[in-house]
Amino acid sequence: MDALKVLTRSSNIKPKPIATASSRLPSAGKSENPQLFRSADTQSSKKRKRQDSEETVDDSEASDDQTLDFFGAPKRASSSANETVLKRSQRSGEADQESAEDEDTKSMDEAQRRSILKSHKIKVSDLRDLREILAIKLGGKTKSKKIDKMIASMTKKQQKQARQLYPEPLTSFGALRKRYSISKRLEQNIAEQGFRVPTEVQIGSLPILLGGISVSTESDTETHTNPDLMVVAPTGSGKTLAFMIPLIHKVVRHHRENPGKREIFAIIVAPTKELVGQIANEGRKLALGTGVKVTAMRKGMRVVDDQEELEDDTEGEDSSSTESSDDDEEKPDESHDERRRRNVALTKSDILVTTPLVLVNALSAKQKTAVSPLPSVRHLVLDEADVLLDPLFRDQTTAIWKACTNADLQISFWSATMGSSIEEFTKSMIKDRRASLGVSRAAPLIRVVIGLKDTAVPNIRHKLVYASNEQGKLLGLRQLIHPTAPVPSNEPRLRPPFLIFTQTIPRAVALYSELLYDIPVEAGGSSRIAVLHSDLSEKRRSEIMKGFRKGEIWIIVTTDLLARGVDFRGVNGVINYDIPTSSAAYVHRVGRTGRAGREGGVAVTFYTKEDIPYVKSIANMIDISEKLQGRTEDKSVQKWLLDALPDLSKEDRKYLKKHGVKARQASAKLRGDEKLAREARRNRISTKSAYDRRRERRKKEAIMASRKRRAESQSSEN
Ligand code: ADP
Ligand code: MG
Repeated sequence: MDALKVLTRSSNIKPKPIATASSRLPSAGKSENPQLFRSADTQSSKKRKRQDSEETVDDSEASDDQTLDFFGAPKRASSSANETVLKRSQRSGEADQESAEDEDTKSMDEAQRRSILKSHKIKVSDLRDLREILAIKLGGKTKSKKIDKMIASMTKKQQKQARQLYPEPLTSFGALRKRYSISKRLEQNIAEQGFRVPTEVQIGSLPILLGGISVSTESDTETHTNPDLMVVAPTGSGKTLAFMIPLIHKVVRHHRENPGKREIFAIIVAPTKELVGQIANEGRKLALGTGVKVTAMRKGMRVVDDQEELEDDTEGEDSSSTESSDDDEEKPDESHDERRRRNVALTKSDILVTTPLVLVNALSAKQKTAVSPLPSVRHLVLDEADVLLDPLFRDQTTAIWKACTNADLQISFWSATMGSSIEEFTKSMIKDRRASLGVSRAAPLIRVVIGLKDTAVPNIRHKLVYASNEQGKLLGLRQLIHPTAPVPSNEPRLRPPFLIFTQTIPRAVALYSELLYDIPVEAGGSSRIAVLHSDLSEKRRSEIMKGFRKGEIWIIVTTDLLARGVDFRGVNGVINYDIPTSSAAYVHRVGRTGRAGREGGVAVTFYTKEDIPYVKSIANMIDISEKLQGRTEDKSVQKWLLDALPDLSKEDRKYLKKHGVKARQASAKLRGDEKLAREARRNRISTKSAYDRRRERRKKEAIMASRKRRAESQSSEN
């Protein structure tokens, strides 16, 4: 059934078939090219031309490349040799991996590496102290005055350049086996998942995680096999695969070197249950048949020491967990689930995926006060690291971090947004941890940034809509769902499936009831819409996730619970019914669409007069996105608006992030502030559906009319 047709049924307008646009909808199918920045760089064309003359360029190959350019940048007449190397190897990934052998195994010189990294907007930096880096480069002492002076005279740009590294990029997935000897099975699993061309974050970080990185040290250039890594890459750009492939490869190697031994080798921490389930599923699919066991940690699971008696050895190698995909999330059969939980011996798992609290609880259950150590863990991955290190989760996350007492621990941080305070915090944490464990190994912290840090993906349309008040937002939302006038062709158009974000759980629930009967019965009616938040049972949460993934549910009304990491491939739109409370939250919420390079996603943000003090950072974010897209017409944010919107103080920004827009908070929080509480009541979304309200109104009207008739007839009788 055509969801669009049915949803727009109530209007008289026949939706025009927008042939090209609709075929490019995110939900239309597979992404043609998962990369965002390929050949997007036009600024460095001069440099490239110089290189072109030096290296052999196969122009015929370059010009027949039909893949999409997400920035819409004009195609250059010629392409650099390095890009050709990449294109050739990418195509070989699709057709014939063997022919790419040369590119996959040959080492590149620095010019080639620089050029490829640049054309994909990949920046790799050494985050050690700048003094240390310069001292090594100049052969001087870290504490010398000369270095102090030098740093003082350097511009920010020069300082950045001094940190920059140019490691070998990954030219194709074929290179994983040839260069880094990943197992055949893992290579097959990657191919079977349909991954043909590596995305930018994979091009940039897989070689570092698999082959290490060379940095200069006082004595020489040293290759660190396990550097700590901070990766900032756009939403939906394939970060999961980028940390999962190396973990699985390393566990396979560990098993080979230590036959019969299974211990928790890696821990992946993510902020929500939904994300944990998703990461574990992706991991299991990649680990299929490799003997690597990936477990999603649930409440009540135990962490068992290696020496401890295992209660249940019958599970077999990995039969039950590696084969399951979506089905393994939550079992409806509670008693079976309980039984499984009791018997799970976690030492039998290699890679543990968990939310912070569940693991901290499991680890402190044994020792009551402190968190028991996890010396076997070699790799700690923090997915959505900036949230995990935010005050809300910080204590739990650092407790896990500290519990990982292995001297060779490698930690990596992954997110689409990473504030500078988070960066500073991680640096000092790494230092403190080393000092407290007496670790002398000084593996550097390396940062990989894809594209422009902290911005939204470039392949979606943004729309910022002023709606005056709550009623206006509801009207605006209905107008998006069922347009009553033709939508101009240059306007973004919302099509299911989509997500609607609200500020609080009660607001999500209320909006859900309001919209419950908006979908015509012929189209599945209220079963097409669902509300998802953390007050629901685990079972219900996972049912909704499954329903949405299967296409049975078209609209989910939710809170920021679903703002991060969750990957629904075909989401066409994101509606910020209530404004996100930080620019990072905006980036993540809208990043639920436009995943893996898919085009056609739409992000609509409503704001009311209460939001005016808070909306500038979002307007800025949209403005940057539109500038990056090269959009000069149909811009959603005009300069006058940006100029008119007030700036928010740092304090207020903090408050907003923590509590949301005051006028929309649950009224319990506002006790004592009568004026605001009144405003909050006014802003409340009715919990009755529009349908129910209409019915009640009609009933009331009918009663009134009948009373009136009776009164009239009585008066005429008298
Ligand atoms: P992120 O964590 O960066 O937000 P995900 O890891 O969730 O992104 O990946 C987003 C989507 O892109 C997933 O559906 C994933 O399967 C897909 N994907 C990842 N890598 C590739 C690739 N190389 N080619 C095609 N699709 C990919
Ligand atoms: Mg992710």
